[in-house]
Amino acid sequence: MTVLVTGGCGFIGSNLVKVLLKNQENVINVDKITYAGNIDNLDNIDSKSYSFIKADINDKAIISDILTKNNPKAILNLAAETHVDRSIENPTDFLYTNILGTHNLLECSRDYWINKLKGDEDFKFIHISTDEVYGSLDENSDSFTEFSQYKPNSPYSASKASSDHLVRAYNKTYGLPTIITNCSNNYGPHQHPEKLIPLAILKIISRQSIPIFGNGEQIRDWIHVNDHCQALLNVLYNAKGGSRFNIGGSNEISNLNLIRKICSIYDEFHNNNNLESSNKLIKFVNDRPGHDFRYSINSSFINKKLSWKPQINFDFGLKETIDHYVSIFKDV
Ligand code: NAD
Repeated sequence: MTVLVTGGCGFIGSNLVKVLLKNQENVINVDKITYAGNIDNLDNIDSKSYSFIKADINDKAIISDILTKNNPKAILNLAAETHVDRSIENPTDFLYTNILGTHNLLECSRDYWINKLKGDEDFKFIHISTDEVYGSLDENSDSFTEFSQYKPNSPYSASKASSDHLVRAYNKTYGLPTIITNCSNNYGPHQHPEKLIPLAILKIISRQSIPIFGNGEQIRDWIHVNDHCQALLNVLYNAKGGSRFNIGGSNEISNLNLIRKICSIYDEFHNNNNLESSNKLIKFVNDRPGHDFRYSINSSFINKKLSWKPQINFDFGLKETIDHYVSIFKDV
């Protein structure tokens, strides 16, 4: 089938495009290439099944034209502004892309679905969202389920929550077959170096201090990006319009322990010059305003409904991820 992926030059999008092509799907990738998008993430793709269009998801004329000319069976919306710290400094871009951009995609899809597909039940608008919409948990609270209340705390998570509500409303109001997925923190290749794991590796390689917000005790659930992409494939092939799924790695760790783990893997496999322990580079910095303490995802619904569960062992995936970034950053 032909699928339209938005944000396919970003971290998760570029990994997803590769997985879709491997599965013999035709992929149209629409990406504006912001500072976070990297066309080189997909530079080794040589396939007649792949096309790239540089465009903004807010551009109604281009998006409508792409839909009517290519007849996609699904849209996977990954285009977004994604960095929480940037959203605190300047929320406007987050509202523009995450809310208005998603709304434009929904409007174009509604028109295409009604007028071209004549209400085809198999069409899917899959909106890729985050566990951050649920807000923060304390240490002993139950994990987020699909029924947890939305309580976003940052401009980023508030913009994603708004877009989730619009996506849901287009299903309830117009019957558009939309699906929402809320996933925990992804790790793996092609992530922008402003994000925690690649940033830490970059700092370790250049022997600069590794900044950790507050006391580093905040807990995140980590999932390998390929496990997330596999979950999205299951959603694409098997989920029904109007459904929603939480996707997590069942792998909670504090930020401090994560960075310590990265330091020790780096020292064991890459610290060839026997420099002092990389742990010594850890530096606690002022906490992020409104910083959520803990995210935790209960994935039992997608496990039961779509027979999905994460496959990649965290220690294995993290070591592979560190090797990947060391090979990229070593000459920086
Ligand atoms: P990313 O920042 O790496 O990539 C975002 C991509 O969107 C970039 O290629 C960028 O150029 C593109 N883009 C931004 N604005 C655009 C616009 N107006 N029009 C077209 N393209 C635009 O993000 P990511 O980490 O790959 O996240 C992808 C999606 O998954 C986001 O919606 C994010 O909220 C969600 N998500 C991410 C994580 C995570 O841990 N990274 C976890 C859960 C959910």
